[in-house]
Amino acid sequence: MNFSNKIKEACKLLKATNNIDKKIILENYINNLENTMNSLAPKKIKQYRKIPYTEKILEKMFYYHYEMMENFIENKEFHKNFLDQILTITEKEQSKLPQENRKEDIKLTKKEFYYILSSFMKSINKEKLLDNIINNHQIHKININDKDTYKTDSGYILYNHINKDYDIFIKDFSYNISSMLTLVHEIGHAYDYETLECDSATYNKYYFQSYYGEVYSKMFERLFISYMLKNNIEKYKAESLLLEFENNSLASMSFSYILSCLDEQLLCNQNDDKNKKKKIANKISEQFTNKNVVNQFIKNYHFMMIPENYNYAYGNIISLFLKDVYEEEGLSSNLLKQFSKKRVEVFNKKELDNWEITPNQYIKLYKKQIHSIKK
Ligand SMILES: [Zn+2]
Repeated sequence: MNFSNKIKEACKLLKATNNIDKKIILENYINNLENTMNSLAPKKIKQYRKIPYTEKILEKMFYYHYEMMENFIENKEFHKNFLDQILTITEKEQSKLPQENRKEDIKLTKKEFYYILSSFMKSINKEKLLDNIINNHQIHKININDKDTYKTDSGYILYNHINKDYDIFIKDFSYNISSMLTLVHEIGHAYDYETLECDSATYNKYYFQSYYGEVYSKMFERLFISYMLKNNIEKYKAESLLLEFENNSLASMSFSYILSCLDEQLLCNQNDDKNKKKKIANKISEQFTNKNVVNQFIKNYHFMMIPENYNYAYGNIISLFLKDVYEEEGLSSNLLKQFSKKRVEVFNKKELDNWEITPNQYIKLYKKQIHSIKK
């Protein structure tokens, strides 16, 4: 099915429902797919809906966001301590590692590309998932003209929770290991959605409030890099990918840490004005000596950054634990089962305790996995 048919189908579903949560899901889906079509072929696309986002929908979306903020403020001190402990040690350890040195990608043939990918998927018992994606969904290799759209990610997935359809998009695709890693990340999201059995309201809570939306995608990435290192497949490239992965982790954890240091009033004031940025800048400068971190933060700060950044920060952290038990115990691991069940719930620090996800344990696993690339 092509994109305009998918949008038409979603519009039909939208008309047929009075359920506000279903409407939110469909509106978001249509909006994202329209944006994608626009960035692929600007100005050629007609607008499919006349009036997007009615007031009732916006109100409910705001409510989800409001609840997320409440949960964030309630757990702010916990996040702060938790991330601080992890950052203090990983920053030190990472400075001992060789400088990130982007290894050139070796060009693969299409056959080689899918051979490595399917061997990897087989090694983690997920060959059926890959077959399903290739046969029933689509992987789009795209070049985005509009540089502003989705500029931060090299890939993304658009999922329609109502009819369970999804498409994967990989930017600037080539048959090489970097594109494969991007694809593996998105396959992790597909796995997340394929195994998510919940109603529309729960799905929206997961979408707007949870910090667990990047856990499986990061777990797949970690498993893939580990598979390459263990099997000696483009070892140097794999090492540089691991370094890059850890540097990105550090950046997103630092951002989240900074957010946890801001006071409530600053966080809740939605006006994105200059004064606010100045206040935030002062606040951050008190805590951070690294000017680069501060400047980056000021430049990119936005109110909506909280769920997004925490998704990446906790995604990095929890995925390390899941990857470890996956490699040790396989799918039957207790932690994997528990996480799968609880992931749709809002953040609860007790849950991390139950899963034995602590800074100390994180650092142990972190050291174990970077051991192989130490000089
Ligand atoms: Zn992702």
